[in-house]
Amino acid sequence: MKFGGTSMAGTERIRRVARIVKRQQDAGHEVAVVVSAMAGETDRLVNFCREANPLYDPAEYDVVVASGEQVTSGLLAIALQALGAQARSWLGWQLPIKTVEAHAKARVDSIDADALIAEMQKGVIAVIPGFQGVSDEGRITTLGRGGSDTSAVAVAAAVKADRCDIYTDVDGVYTTDPRIVAKARKLQHVTYEEMLELASVGAKVLQTRSVGLAMKEGVRVQVLSSFIDDDAPAADTIPGTMIVSDEELEGMDMERQLITGIAHDKNEAKITLTRVPDKPGAVANIFGPLAEAAINVDMIIQNVGRDKGETDVTFTVPAADLARSMDLLEAAKDQIGFNRIIPDTNVAKVSVVGVGMKSHAGVAATMFRSLADRGVNIQAISTSEIKVSVLIEEDYTELAVRVLHTAYGLDAVEA
Ligand code: ASP
Ligand code: MG
Repeated sequence: MKFGGTSMAGTERIRRVARIVKRQQDAGHEVAVVVSAMAGETDRLVNFCREANPLYDPAEYDVVVASGEQVTSGLLAIALQALGAQARSWLGWQLPIKTVEAHAKARVDSIDADALIAEMQKGVIAVIPGFQGVSDEGRITTLGRGGSDTSAVAVAAAVKADRCDIYTDVDGVYTTDPRIVAKARKLQHVTYEEMLELASVGAKVLQTRSVGLAMKEGVRVQVLSSFIDDDAPAADTIPGTMIVSDEELEGMDMERQLITGIAHDKNEAKITLTRVPDKPGAVANIFGPLAEAAINVDMIIQNVGRDKGETDVTFTVPAADLARSMDLLEAAKDQIGFNRIIPDTNVAKVSVVGVGMKSHAGVAATMFRSLADRGVNIQAISTSEIKVSVLIEEDYTELAVRVLHTAYGLDAVEA
């Protein structure tokens, strides 16, 4: 079981979480719990580091920010004990959760779960702080923001859990953002691949990396709400959204929708370079410097060359990287040989996702037609096997999401 920051925000809520956990044990399960820091706490700790020195040492940043989860894991163990349960916390270095690579963005390498499993078999509820681990040198590490989801999946894989229930402030994964489309429906199932695409294009239910790990390790993940009644039945009978493999879904879902969900992302920026020489090596000169700076380029279009052997190249980068991208491109202007550089932050990416499109033609055509009918202009397009994304003017985001939700038959019959 994993509980996010909103579920852990304050002792009152932690006592509620303890009751939800206890109920699972009473239902006959062996339980390990992974917790986040209280909502807002990690931001507060990050700010302390920035105030102390904007160029802080990432190793010491990890020492500071990992403390939020240390507090909530201890408090949950106390709250569980108050209910008469046996509970014990294990910090990242105590298990240990061994991590590799850089501080502040470490990856889980291995978890030694033997002691944990032995205790769980004795009826002890194990409480584990998310987000943290320990490096080869024995220093505290953290997994990157939102990393508790990844901790939970890693622990679930290590103890070979039947299920990894991620309790959050929404009761599942929806066909789209319910704040935009009142008729959005909660999905009973979604595949790992679909969830990966939805997570990476702006449906912020789970950290993207946790989904990749669950897929690799075959962990069955369920997303569900922690804001259920205290006397509600255990999670086995109030399912949220199950994230499963393609094969598993095929076996149980006869009437699969062509499209599973629609996501949007307003944190993109568009860059156009005009009059780039239309010759071998030109685009390599553009994207080389961006790659070296670890800037993630997403959609790319190169227009048909003009008669003078020149062409325009348009692409998107995360809005947060726009300024740096512009600097790098200006610096490489002579080498690339463009005329003008035109930035645009007034864009949004809207994506339709569904494994059903692997075997069906016409998904993209429906998308383009539906948007055209409402006068929404498409500025760039990208696709994968199970996703079609378009870049549009930001003001049209909500309209586009609504129109597409209806066009693919996703609207709930009753709102
Ligand atoms: N507390 C950490 C964060 O806010 C990790 C998490 O909650 O997933 O990024
Ligand atoms: Mg989170």
